[in-house]
Amino acid sequence: MRLSYNCSSCKKENHLKTNAQDRYAFLQEYGDYDFKEKCKHCGNVTKKSINRLYAEPNKIILIGGLVLGIVVTLFLLQFSFISLLTLTIPIGVWVNQNNKTSIFNKSRVK
Ligand SMILES: [Zn+2]
Repeated sequence: MRLSYNCSSCKKENHLKTNAQDRYAFLQEYGDYDFKEKCKHCGNVTKKSINRLYAEPNKIILIGGLVLGIVVTLFLLQFSFISLLTLTIPIGVWVNQNNKTSIFNKSRVK
């Protein structure tokens, strides 16, 4: 999952990668209630509570789900068989990603 925050100086978006499923797990991974990260755009060090970080869906996983859905549909078309089930692959991936980010965004530490 990707976490995003805006730089306190230039206001541009920065990203952090994490395997944490919620903020509490991220706290354990990061080790501090306040995170300090250097902006990729201006070099300013932003200090924020980790409650201010927001998760966003992983676009690569979303695109991967879509591609997989298309590939499976094309494969099934060779057998003159069109299944709506293949549509559930990208939708399922999208729902799964949204659930993960909303669990993270709803969680609070402290
Ligand atoms: Zn900046």
